[in-house]
Amino acid sequence: MPDVTAGPILDHLKLYLVESPIKMARAQGVGSVRGSVKRVLIQLTTRCGITGWGEAAPWEVFTNTPESAFSALDLYLRPLVQGHPARRLRELLAKMDRAVTGCTDAKAGIEMAVLDILGKAQGVSVADLLGGRVRDSIPLSFSIADPDFSADLERMKAMVPAGNRLFKVKTGVKPHAEDMAHLEAIRDTFGDTVDLRLDYNQALEPFRAMVVLRDVDRFRPTFIEQPVPRRHLDAMAGFASALDTPILADESCFDATDLLEVVRRQAADAISVKLMKCGGMLRAQQMMAIADTAGLPGYGGTLWEGGIALAAGTQMIAATPGISLGCEFYMPHHVLTEDVLEERIANRDGAVVVPDGPGLGISVTEASLRAGAKVLAEA
Ligand SMILES: [Mg+2]
Repeated sequence: MPDVTAGPILDHLKLYLVESPIKMARAQGVGSVRGSVKRVLIQLTTRCGITGWGEAAPWEVFTNTPESAFSALDLYLRPLVQGHPARRLRELLAKMDRAVTGCTDAKAGIEMAVLDILGKAQGVSVADLLGGRVRDSIPLSFSIADPDFSADLERMKAMVPAGNRLFKVKTGVKPHAEDMAHLEAIRDTFGDTVDLRLDYNQALEPFRAMVVLRDVDRFRPTFIEQPVPRRHLDAMAGFASALDTPILADESCFDATDLLEVVRRQAADAISVKLMKCGGMLRAQQMMAIADTAGLPGYGGTLWEGGIALAAGTQMIAATPGISLGCEFYMPHHVLTEDVLEERIANRDGAVVVPDGPGLGISVTEASLRAGAKVLAEA
């Protein structure tokens, strides 16, 4: 007789390596993207027929390659997932960590699918499973990263009247004088109606970085993200103590271990939390427990996720008070030409609306997946 107290048992795992076209080129310092992005979508079904969806969205210059996430899921994680009780999620995460080092994107994707299943089985949202909502919408930040700045300025002219206030400029890709001219153009056009943030994506060398940062400081950014390479925590600490503008750690802070070091060395005033860096929603909340205690607010960052992973990020931030600096979940509405969801998560008044409904609060079918992305491989 099956043990009914065990709850749903994870059974069939279907993987899709997909490619989605994007509308605009993105120059982000650490790597440029043009044409399309690839990621892995996960369809996990229990013995009792509940299907959960997950997404592993690595970026090769940041965490991992999509092809290696696909093989890690197919060859190494699949045997651990199949037959495991969905309710024993933490045990599954520990098993996956023992079996495969890293691959945080693949593990985040599995966790997403399992939490989607648990929510659907109990008729509650993933945010409910993570402690319950503290917010119903999340301020949305759009990244100014088009190599053609005038195209971005035109986008802003349409987005600001629609209620968007948060804009993050990818600086350090072009010469400093050009960055200064662009920041000036933004403040001249929009004044203080926009909440401006800067992200160097590790572009500056510690030598002379302070000169550059003091220059851009006069545009009153809300924060300056990752000015120097990941390993230069002492330089980050120097900027954090010398500048009034807060320094935010992204590449310097992948997970809780990195965060302990950032806190110990006072290397940042805030952190960017990404499910693909830290390995999922429970780990993101674990990080924020440390960050809250140290007085560092969080920001909802992304790599190149589509609608499934962004739904997970939305549910997590809804239930994580310390992530108070908004999110950059703009891909489905502004960058991807199609998405695999039957209906995109709503954006209203410059904010992402946390979806109602059980699990991740989204609807995906094999048909909507095939209509919204090109399937490169399946397993
Ligand atoms: Mg960043």
